[in-house]
Amino acid sequence: VYNFNAGPAMFPLEVLQQVQAELRDLQGTGLSVLEISHRSKEYEQINEETQQLLKELLGISSEYDVLFMQGGASTQFAMVPMNFLTEGRVANYIESGTWSHKAVEEAKKIGRTEILASSEADQFRKVPDLQGLKIHPEAAYVHLTSNETIAGTQYRDFISTGEIPLIVDMSSDILSREINVSNFSLIYAGAQKNLGPSGVTVVIVKRELLHRIPNSIPNMMNYQVHAQKNSLYNTPPVFAVYMVNLMLKWIQKNGGVKGMEQRNQLKANLIYRTIDNSEGFYNGLAHVESRSMMNVTFSVVNDELEKEFLRQAEENGFVGLKGHRDAGHLRVSMYNAVPYEQCKALTDFMDDFQKRFG
Ligand code: PLP
Repeated sequence: VYNFNAGPAMFPLEVLQQVQAELRDLQGTGLSVLEISHRSKEYEQINEETQQLLKELLGISSEYDVLFMQGGASTQFAMVPMNFLTEGRVANYIESGTWSHKAVEEAKKIGRTEILASSEADQFRKVPDLQGLKIHPEAAYVHLTSNETIAGTQYRDFISTGEIPLIVDMSSDILSREINVSNFSLIYAGAQKNLGPSGVTVVIVKRELLHRIPNSIPNMMNYQVHAQKNSLYNTPPVFAVYMVNLMLKWIQKNGGVKGMEQRNQLKANLIYRTIDNSEGFYNGLAHVESRSMMNVTFSVVNDELEKEFLRQAEENGFVGLKGHRDAGHLRVSMYNAVPYEQCKALTDFMDDFQKRFG
């Protein structure tokens, strides 16, 4: 099966095999990782090592804390304004797609929220330009989504927001390319695309931001509490963190983030080239300058052939190509674990389908 699911997404086979091998006996403890206490030294080591691996892979400085939280990225949509949108401040958002729209809607429930730029009028098929943004002088933070999973758009470059914290949802492209973490005050990402299974959300937060959080925020929703307790305030998602640990080691073994970026670029180039060389038989949905390396969205020349494409693709073992209901059409999600060969198999199928029906 060629898995192109948008998330939860594919794992490397060797990672799944390691989980299988260790499931009944974690490192000679005689216990499964599902059965160990989160207060045990085994989990303490997993917790510490996973934070360390992430710090090394992304070059995160000692000014930041790495947290493992629950509730998915959707909980972060609410937590960010709950913690930082304090009295008299304004939350500033860049609305580049369905996910950033949802983040805006949550912030509105908490306090004053302004959209600085939106591409809704373009059906979110491009990312709004970040140059010349009028950031509110009383902005609590600026929030944006680096990769919009549904529309298949991605920011290549970011802006500096100076003293105003820049907060980014990197759920669908964290660890897929090199980034300079010091440009951001807070990064969050649901794990289930590039990092691990659903159930854990990674938060990378600049420590100086934590001191601004009011005491009135309930503990489970309070970044400061999770940071002080080293992500052990309550029972953490032990199995999910363990799997993130294995994924990070796999990334490290496969050239680190730089290696991932090179591979992801090759994969994306291959698919986009096939679309662009098809003379209109396939059409990319995102504007060229906003195209995502992670999620390629496209259509087939007419609805009937698109249905036939999907039917035959499924018959040939290609899974997860149906576009999200908000965007329709087709979507190829190719996170870190998706090998180049799998993308090549898909483009061979696309070429062949065009020969037969084009
Ligand atoms: N943000 C982005 C960019 C996403 O792609 C998703 C889910 O696909 C979410 C947020 C929501 O994540 P979760 O389902 O973990 O709440």
